[in-house]
Amino acid sequence: MQIYQRTLKRPVACTGIGLHSGKKVNLCLRPAAPDTGVMFKRSDLAGAPLIPGDVHHVMATSMCTTVGKDGVSISTVEHLLSALSGLGVDNVLVEVDSPEVPIMDGSAAPFVFLIKNAGLTSQAELRRFYMVKREVSITDNDKFVKVAPARGLEVNFTIEFNHPMIRHQALGLRFDERTYEKDISRARTFGFLEDRERLRAANLGLGGSLDNAVVVDKYRVLNDDGLRFPDEFVRHKVLDFIGDLALVGRPVLGSFTAHKSGHALNNQLFRKFLDDPQAWQLVTPAPQRADELAPLEEMLPAFGRAVVA
Ligand SMILES: [Zn+2]
Repeated sequence: MQIYQRTLKRPVACTGIGLHSGKKVNLCLRPAAPDTGVMFKRSDLAGAPLIPGDVHHVMATSMCTTVGKDGVSISTVEHLLSALSGLGVDNVLVEVDSPEVPIMDGSAAPFVFLIKNAGLTSQAELRRFYMVKREVSITDNDKFVKVAPARGLEVNFTIEFNHPMIRHQALGLRFDERTYEKDISRARTFGFLEDRERLRAANLGLGGSLDNAVVVDKYRVLNDDGLRFPDEFVRHKVLDFIGDLALVGRPVLGSFTAHKSGHALNNQLFRKFLDDPQAWQLVTPAPQRADELAPLEEMLPAFGRAVVA
């Protein structure tokens, strides 16, 4: 039994606003050929330039992840990448008529809905995974992130904020078929009221509102409906992590542990991992039973036997 790459069955589109510009953005996801990965296209610019969605094209990691090439960029890619990776989409063309992917509700759930509307189809090429062979880590003062060998994908994340609504939150997940959609995709991005005012003064975050973020002041959550999970903050950090991890270009079989990590540190780890040929091996897992196949097509836990590609 083999695991094949997947793409969308048909194109799907949606409209939202850019978090920073506050302007309307049209997004269209289209099927793409095997081994394309995630390819972005700026449909608003002459020649509709393409930008590969991989770690080598990450240009900025402050506030959000930005990919770019030849002076053209697209920001806030991580929530869409997270949804694509979480649902096991290998190849897709992402067309955006703006420098930003729309923020939607600040989570990945609207993208999950969109991808499920398109439906998925298997392609002729086998899916190849990075199997982690040895530990790789990055530390920055009290923050760190590392990856170690494991049979599936595991993410263990802890955050510390000196805020009464957050404090210490920890989440450990071993991904299987439904974990991403159920436990992660709905967690919204969050921000502090004082930062928001500072950003607006710098003409950034103009599209930010209680409709697309959890906003906290010094003591409490300002959104009328409160939180979607008591630990929505750390769940969103895992959502972002899965989005950044998608930039590695192929699914990873490994156990990640992160403490207070963010886009910048995540990206440093993924580059260090890919740059170390002793740290990984490309494999095409071949599950021996039907019940092992379904999870691998989505987020992928235990599998029967790894075939070295
Ligand atoms: Zn985020």
